[in-house]
Amino acid sequence: MVSEKKDIRALSKEELREFFVSIGDKAFRGNQVYEWLWNKGIHNFEDMTNISKETRSHLEQNFVINHIEVDSLQKSNDGTIKNAVKLHDGFVVESVLIPTKSRTTACVSSQVGCSLDCKFCATSRLKRMRNLNPDEIFDQVVAIHKESLLYHDKPLSNIVYMGMGEPLMNYKNVLESIKMITSEEGLRMSPKRITLSTSGVPKMIKKLADDEVKFNLAVSLHSAIQETREQIMPFAKSFTLEDLHESIEYWYAKTKRRVTYEYIVWKDINDTEKDVDALVQFCKSVPCKINLIEYNPIDDGEFQQADNLALDLYIEKLEKNRIPVTVRRSRGKDIDAACGQLANKS
Ligand code: SAH
Repeated sequence: MVSEKKDIRALSKEELREFFVSIGDKAFRGNQVYEWLWNKGIHNFEDMTNISKETRSHLEQNFVINHIEVDSLQKSNDGTIKNAVKLHDGFVVESVLIPTKSRTTACVSSQVGCSLDCKFCATSRLKRMRNLNPDEIFDQVVAIHKESLLYHDKPLSNIVYMGMGEPLMNYKNVLESIKMITSEEGLRMSPKRITLSTSGVPKMIKKLADDEVKFNLAVSLHSAIQETREQIMPFAKSFTLEDLHESIEYWYAKTKRRVTYEYIVWKDINDTEKDVDALVQFCKSVPCKINLIEYNPIDDGEFQQADNLALDLYIEKLEKNRIPVTVRRSRGKDIDAACGQLANKS
């Protein structure tokens, strides 16, 4: 049941301070409650032990503390853990814990379903139902951090916004969640350890630069030929490569930080020399890195990973042009937790 009371986590710190003043209490009480909610992550007013009983029951009468529940948890042979996360109104999203030798990474969702229509991605088949709130993104990180300590004996080290949804189509809430994750009262994580991945929304990439964000940006490029990109990512008809390129130039000029391009090489789609040359050309004017990612099949076989020869051609030409390139192997494939496989199958 969705409660009629207001979610206290929708209030900013300033709003909480004002609330306490409005009931004749001290503004400072707002800071204390804020810390309980965002740093200590409690879900019940009665756990706020430095707040008087009277105030706690006043809060109880006026507010709820909405929070996520980890509904089910699947473990992969490679240590990857996928969470099905239930939201307060019953929707389910997925988030993933990816452990490697040197880091443990949380991959979080930003929307229920997705606003965009990449043909190779399982999430795009679930139409966008709603945006996640900042606290719903934050809670996924907290849940994964706890799992990381429990199952891998290590705190979370990195976060990628690469789960379900297009983060730049939920701009305000995504940035708010990052503020909570990086702030003193929140999780105190360095923004350098956070990467936002976008399918490429030029206007919003420029906005990120204007807002002087300190986290990393990854762009799912997949083709540097407009015609090809439109075929596999139809929204690219409106968000053209030309505009995308311009927005990335803008980002670099303002932030001086390199963008990472995520790129899958598919058989008969982008595996020719012409495709490689277009990518090299696209990369020339602005410093960047290429992450060649393995394709994770999503049932119907329309898309197939290209053979290693095609991959080698990419690597060879990129390296020759001094464009840094890495190859990323998939994790958690056996539990459908890999990139593009998140579709609430369970
Ligand atoms: N909407 C954002 C973030 C979610 S997708 C974006 O597009 O970047 C995260 C990454 O997974 C993207 O690079 C996306 O292109 C990639 N991806 C989607 N489907 C995939 C699949 N089936 N196999 C491998 N990667 C996939």
